[in-house]
Amino acid sequence: MSQMRVNQDLCTLCGACVEACPFAGVVMGEDSIEFTDSCRLCSICVKACPTGAIWLEKTAAGPSFDLKKYKGVLVFAEQRQGEIQPVTYELIGKGLEMAKQLGQDVAVCLAGSNVQTLAEDLLTYGVDKVYLYDYPELEYFRIEPYTAIMVDLVNEIKPNIILMGATPVGRSLAPRVAARLRTGLTADCTTLSVKENGDLVQTRPAFGGDVMAQIITPRHRPQMATVRYKVMPPAETVQPHGEIVHCKTDQAQLQSRITTLGFRPHQVASSITDAEIIVAAGRGIGKPEGLELLEEFAGLIGGVVGTTRPLVEQGWANYNQQIGMSGRTVRPRIFIACGISGAIQLVAGMRGADTIFAINTDPDAPIFDVAHYGIVGDLYEVIPKLIAIIEEGGSLGAISQVG
Ligand SMILES: Cc1cc2nc3c(=O)[nH]c(=O)nc-3n(C[C@H](O)[C@H](O)[C@H](O)COP(=O)(O)OP(=O)(O)OC[C@H]3O[C@@H](n4cnc5c(N)ncnc54)[C@H](O)[C@@H]3O)c2cc1C
Repeated sequence: MSQMRVNQDLCTLCGACVEACPFAGVVMGEDSIEFTDSCRLCSICVKACPTGAIWLEKTAAGPSFDLKKYKGVLVFAEQRQGEIQPVTYELIGKGLEMAKQLGQDVAVCLAGSNVQTLAEDLLTYGVDKVYLYDYPELEYFRIEPYTAIMVDLVNEIKPNIILMGATPVGRSLAPRVAARLRTGLTADCTTLSVKENGDLVQTRPAFGGDVMAQIITPRHRPQMATVRYKVMPPAETVQPHGEIVHCKTDQAQLQSRITTLGFRPHQVASSITDAEIIVAAGRGIGKPEGLELLEEFAGLIGGVVGTTRPLVEQGWANYNQQIGMSGRTVRPRIFIACGISGAIQLVAGMRGADTIFAINTDPDAPIFDVAHYGIVGDLYEVIPKLIAIIEEGGSLGAISQVG
């Protein structure tokens, strides 16, 4: 195992390392510095040490792990009630792109009951193989059998990369599978790319969104990542060339301590995740009644209202309306930001929108850096004018008349 080392002859006990460590991983002992269990081997202390007394001693990778045995991309196809969840197509799109770069294949794992037609549908997205586990016990997602079949399949086909949706199912399944396979998993990736040597570069926000961390799993395989819905464009349908592989598993593997009695979908009024037009409200609305104005506007243009986090924290909006890093990721055709500053955590959840309009009183607000069209002005003047124009038969293009 790698560990931090100190050359006592060079250490002056100046405390620069203690001060620099963000994790309280290094403390001042009686006559030397000491590393605690909180040390994350990040080497910030190495850079902070003015005398070069600290270094990270790296141990060579453990018992030789043959990375070259692992090839191709495996996508976990999530189906609910016999419907493929749309994030699957986005993962296939990214998987195909990376596999093409490496000259390798893309396979999909599909589990369910009576889902042969779904497997056929998946082939039309250009994947090379669909590994199909079709058993009545797999009708609903239950963690034990789904983990068992995924682990079996991975041990059998040895994929280099495994992609899952950052959905409740993916977030539950991926860590279990990663733990069984003793490999790395990066959750909620926003960007994925692959190096020539097959290393997956997994980018995701870290430290509260202040930095975008690039994470790699250089000494283990497979490399596992979850990706949120709407972060990546979906694969397009093509003339299928792949095959369906009917997989067998033991009855014992299909057992679960969970019995699913039925399935009742939660009724959501209108989901911001699937909306084509979003009118997004920020703290600039100043009062909860501002939401009513934006709802009226959204209703006129066939959109729904989303919000930034402060509005949820203030109890003015529901969490399922929150857009951003700790809320929903959206990819609408049109996104109208009203009284939103454009913090990185918000932008992380909406930058995939096709066209972004921003209305803000502050001409220097960062939202204007990501917006395609901007109006510097008070939303309480701009929105009523837009409503009036649209009620008179105008279109959203009216925004250009209001600035
Ligand atoms: C770990 C972490 C996760 C987070 N996750 C999220 C997340 O998922 N989503 C999210 O939104 N935030 C998130 N945040 C919070 C984020 O950092 C910002 O604080 C938040 O996005 C700011 O929201 P806002 O733009 O509505 O408010 P503000 O930053 O206060 O901006 C209000 C804007 O309104 C403008 N304004 C004021 N009055 C008017 C008016 N009458 N007309 C027009 N414009 C006006 C102002 O000029 C200002 O630019 C997170 C923070 C952390 C630390």
